[in-house]
Amino acid sequence: MIPCPRGRVIGGSSSINGHLYVRGQALDYADWVELGAKGWGWDDVLPFFKRGETRIGGDPATRGADGPLIVADPRMRHPLCEAFLQNHASAWRAGQFDYNSGSQDGCGYYQYLMSAGVAGALPTPICARP
Ligand SMILES: Cc1cc2nc3c(=O)[nH]c(=O)nc-3n(C[C@H](O)[C@H](O)[C@H](O)COP(=O)(O)OP(=O)(O)OC[C@H]3O[C@@H](n4cnc5c(N)ncnc54)[C@H](O)[C@@H]3O)c2cc1C
Repeated sequence: MIPCPRGRVIGGSSSINGHLYVRGQALDYADWVELGAKGWGWDDVLPFFKRGETRIGGDPATRGADGPLIVADPRMRHPLCEAFLQNHASAWRAGQFDYNSGSQDGCGYYQYLMSAGVAGALPTPICARP
């Protein structure tokens, strides 16, 4: 039997999910546009992704710096993952791999919608905009 958990509660599956932050890649959006989803291309949705998040140290071309959702790296790093990345992932080593930048080629850690181990967004006063 294959377990298939679903969040049958208020909040739905987001109440039980892993809080991984995955935008998808630009090519996926291009496919959808080709199928008729005009206005939903990568360049169309990117400003909204950026507005929604705070990603410390992200490339400003693709990542937001003062949105309500904190996108963080995992706090726990398994030594085997570290060894693999150190030896096989040159872009990650150079701090250049970001699977939320539009391309998912490469390898590195997942990014999480978490802050200090707690899921959620910044408190409202910090997200306030002029
Ligand atoms: C274990 C797990 C881990 C995941 N991890 C991630 C992750 O890390 N990152 C990520 O991006 N995504 C993750 N996902 C996927 C993501 O959580 C879901 O794609 C997303 O929450 C789906 O949202 P939804 O609003 O479409 O459906 P849901 O959130 O499933 O909402 C459906 C709602 O409808 C209710 N409902 C169902 N049937 C009825 C009915 N007959 N009458 C009334 N109410 C009904 C349910 O109770 C539920 O509240 C994960 C999912 C699971 C299950």
